[in-house]
Amino acid sequence: MFKWLLLIAGFTLFYFWLKGNKQAKVQREQSARSNPRKAKAAVEPEAMVLCQYCQVHLPKSDALVKEDRFYCSKEHLQALDHQGWLGNATWRISPNQDSRPENVTPDLVVVHHISLPPGAFKSQASSQYIIDFFQNNLDTTAHPYFEEIGAQKVSSHFLITRSGQLIQFVSTHNKAWHAGVSAFFGREKCNDFSIGIELEGDGDTPFEEAQYQVLANLIKKLSSSYPKLQFAGHSDIAPERKTDPGIFFNWKKFQKETGISQEKLPYGLDSR
Ligand SMILES: [Zn+2]
Ligand SMILES: [Zn+2]
Repeated sequence: MFKWLLLIAGFTLFYFWLKGNKQAKVQREQSARSNPRKAKAAVEPEAMVLCQYCQVHLPKSDALVKEDRFYCSKEHLQALDHQGWLGNATWRISPNQDSRPENVTPDLVVVHHISLPPGAFKSQASSQYIIDFFQNNLDTTAHPYFEEIGAQKVSSHFLITRSGQLIQFVSTHNKAWHAGVSAFFGREKCNDFSIGIELEGDGDTPFEEAQYQVLANLIKKLSSSYPKLQFAGHSDIAPERKTDPGIFFNWKKFQKETGISQEKLPYGLDSR
């Protein structure tokens, strides 16, 4: 009789153990069905991306992102890469560019100003017109002045807007079309050996503090890649034709904030 009791108790325990297992399985299946993303993530490996600067593979969730580009570190995001593009700039490629002469690396920075239509930034955000202009996309019906300039094919390596946004149009390895007929102490065709930086401005208005800050940062990056850089205004290398960046560009402030030596500013520090 005791044997029988033991046997029944054993079967009962086995039955409950089996039932418990089945229930747990059903619960797992139900939860996977109600949350398919979670179930999928558990089996799929994480998406990997390449650092734009050093090409290292890293999980997408660890990468720093600028536009559609990924970077492994802040240092690489902020650097000028081996193709001549600055990671933390917004890239808007201009068709108005070509190769530099063979074995020429830039040794001059030309500072400009531009505003489209001139002075419009005082009442509205108008930086997009400059981007359109450098990409040959300017809507010539938007303003009478645009009809005059719409067919011009020009560009610059960089633009710094009034709010301090930095946009790059051309790799520093290539020639941007910003200087035109020009000469730097007898060396003609300054586009061949220079980097052009446009500040959004009209010549009648002081530049913004944010613009000086972004400019100083940019100059530090460029100087570490191109240690022989000297600095001039467009009016210095094309005095007959050009007045930019004009009397409101503060060369003393520029020199102080960038820390570049005065010999690299051969036209001096006075406003002009
Ligand atoms: Zn990297
Ligand atoms: Zn200019």
